[in-house]
Amino acid sequence: MIKARIPPENSDANLQSYAEVYKNFSWSDVEKKFTWYETGNINIVHEAIDRWAGDEEKSKRKALIFEKGGKIREFTYSELRDITCQWANLLTEYGFAFGDRIFVFLPSCPEVYFSMLACARLGIIFCALFPTLGYDEIESRIQNAKPRGIITHPDMFERLPLHAMSTVEHVFLTEGPLLNLFPSEIVVQKTLQEMPKRSATRWVSKSTPLYLLYTTSGSTGPPKGVVHCHGDMVGHLLTGSYVLDLKDDSIIWTDGGDPGWVTGIVYGMFAPFLHCVTSVVQGDRFSASTWYRTLERHRISVWYTTPRTITRLIEAGEDLAVRYDFSHLKHLATVGETLSPEQFYWAKDTLKHAPHDTWWMTETGMICMANFPSMSIRPGSMGKPVPGIEASALDEQGEPLPEFSMGELALRPGWPAMMSGLWQDAVRYQEYFSPNNWFLTGDMVTKDEHGYYYHQGRNDDLIKLGQRDTGPYEVEQVLSLHQAVAEAVAISVRSGTENPMFKAFVRIKKGFTASKRLNLEIKNFVKANFTPEIPLSEVVFLDELPKTRSGILLRRVLEARDLGVPSGDHTKLEE
Ligand code: ATP
Ligand code: MG
Repeated sequence: MIKARIPPENSDANLQSYAEVYKNFSWSDVEKKFTWYETGNINIVHEAIDRWAGDEEKSKRKALIFEKGGKIREFTYSELRDITCQWANLLTEYGFAFGDRIFVFLPSCPEVYFSMLACARLGIIFCALFPTLGYDEIESRIQNAKPRGIITHPDMFERLPLHAMSTVEHVFLTEGPLLNLFPSEIVVQKTLQEMPKRSATRWVSKSTPLYLLYTTSGSTGPPKGVVHCHGDMVGHLLTGSYVLDLKDDSIIWTDGGDPGWVTGIVYGMFAPFLHCVTSVVQGDRFSASTWYRTLERHRISVWYTTPRTITRLIEAGEDLAVRYDFSHLKHLATVGETLSPEQFYWAKDTLKHAPHDTWWMTETGMICMANFPSMSIRPGSMGKPVPGIEASALDEQGEPLPEFSMGELALRPGWPAMMSGLWQDAVRYQEYFSPNNWFLTGDMVTKDEHGYYYHQGRNDDLIKLGQRDTGPYEVEQVLSLHQAVAEAVAISVRSGTENPMFKAFVRIKKGFTASKRLNLEIKNFVKANFTPEIPLSEVVFLDELPKTRSGILLRRVLEARDLGVPSGDHTKLEE
């Protein structure tokens, strides 16, 4: 645990006095900020779009800026209302209504956002699929959610499981040509223009399902359809303000934000729109210069990124970074995995902003732990619980542990964005809760004497080393210190009755050659710098580590490969 303490840089943060606000916090105070608090008419799209589109000044604000291949498309709040109403009218025309499920399987494009928002407007449950998902993964999701419609693009059709799509009555293509594979195919482009720019909004309740997102945690059984509801907006609004520090004139870029990932839905779309600010989406594949240029060109003021992206920028060198102007940047935050002290100090020195690590998961629906802009940062820590969240580290019996003991991170149910269930799976939903009513995250943490939490890996990744549990993260940290290692990831491997072991995957730096000798040297390096007892079975050299387009490392792909089970179409991850 690193003892450094970095004082806050931001003196006008939305959340000023964490301790006081945490103590006196009440979710009903946040609810007062919504129009439904007075009217009783609830729908997230009304709060995120229509409310602003009906305001003279705010209607002209840019809601979405989408860039791909050098082409920029921009949409104001008023345009977003018109387009999403047209989409909603189109869906209504084809008989879609409250409670139906629609899958959105598209490459990165503005239509992803239009269609998700149109569904929400009508009380239809949308499910955005990662554009890189494979045939089998889509099939299992279709079987579970039984969508009546899919919104897709002709380029994606090869991965649609044709034989398993009997519930799908209509396939909407954002562009032609028709595929002539399904009884009802609609090219949206043409029909959309004829649709009226106003449509009725379906009023719902806070517990009406809004979207479904699949997670594969736990590794046994089919993927779990996490259900999120319209009432999540209360959590989106609060964390957009307190954690991401959104202000009236903010321009936010959530760059790990493909909507197949919950971060793209919540912080690439809902939280910015609920704050009436501009959200930028960069649809191009990663390159350091594209990323820096995006920050500069779009005058990004809030950047919500990932530690892996920072690693990739580190690799591109400081010389590149200094050529760009980041003077508009006011707040930098990360999510997805531990932000290492190395990544932290690099960003702080090179980008001139300390990254604020945040923690949450698909199931929590909103950021739950964070380094707040007005709070000192302890590098390596994921911060403290968001006001309204009660957190604890629990032992195996479900009892809270004292400071500095590693336990499972647990949250007390009752925050507004917590998943409302698993689609068609009440049994597995119950497994998330301890007998004494804690939501169990599956992540291991320790807490220091000041209440800061430190992520220690996932509980199914830990291996006992003598008296203490060791996680892959610690192995990765040591690996990354070796001079030949550019990137490293470790997984824990359990086969039959044998003791669990770590297996490491390493991408080596340019100038080094993969050889048996280097392999042995790296293994010995880990033993020498960690402990000779470390159960490291193997170091595997890979040219590329499997990642999503936004740079999130797919540990699960490595685990699946190791077990010899299908891991999806990760070959297209960088496309
Ligand atoms: P799946 O559930 O499908 O296996 P996943 O758990 O990676 O995938 P997400 O819900 O997107 O899917 O990720 C949540 C997980 O990401 C957390 O449980 C945690 O393990 C990890 N995580 C998120 N933020 C952080 C962070 N700041 N530090 C460390 N780990 C983090
Ligand atoms: Mg998970």
